[in-house]
Amino acid sequence: MVADLVERDAQGFILTGRDLLVDGRWPKAWTADRDPFLFETSVPGVFAAGDARRGSSKRVAAAVGEGSATVSMIHQYLQTV
Ligand SMILES: Cc1cc2nc3c(=O)[nH]c(=O)nc-3n(C[C@H](O)[C@H](O)[C@H](O)COP(=O)(O)OP(=O)(O)OC[C@H]3O[C@@H](n4cnc5c(N)ncnc54)[C@H](O)[C@@H]3O)c2cc1C
Repeated sequence: MVADLVERDAQGFILTGRDLLVDGRWPKAWTADRDPFLFETSVPGVFAAGDARRGSSKRVAAAVGEGSATVSMIHQYLQTV
């Protein structure tokens, strides 16, 4: 199940982008031969934005902004597949 492959921190918040780096390495679940896009989770093509994401501001405006920015990242992702 995809949700089981999405890396989370100890509090359950979803790791995205460079937050996935541990000791300079991407997690095992990361199978793509590129770096993750901003807001992309450890599963290539799966993105997270808003309160569920580690490091998010936990504010409405921030969640809306992240969602909007994620659309742009998804367009970039779709150009890679
Ligand atoms: C009491 C309270 C007061 C707040 N006051 C303010 C404020 O004054 N100003 C401000 O800017 N922010 C405030 N916030 C924070 C703000 O509500 C959040 O930052 C914002 O709602 C985050 O949006 P989101 O879309 O990331 O998450 P959410 O709004 O939590 O949306 C997530 C949605 O996913 C749904 N969901 C969860 N699990 C699943 C699942 N497995 N399958 C399908 N759907 C699922 C949930 O039901 C929910 O509808 C407040 C939060 C709380 C709790």
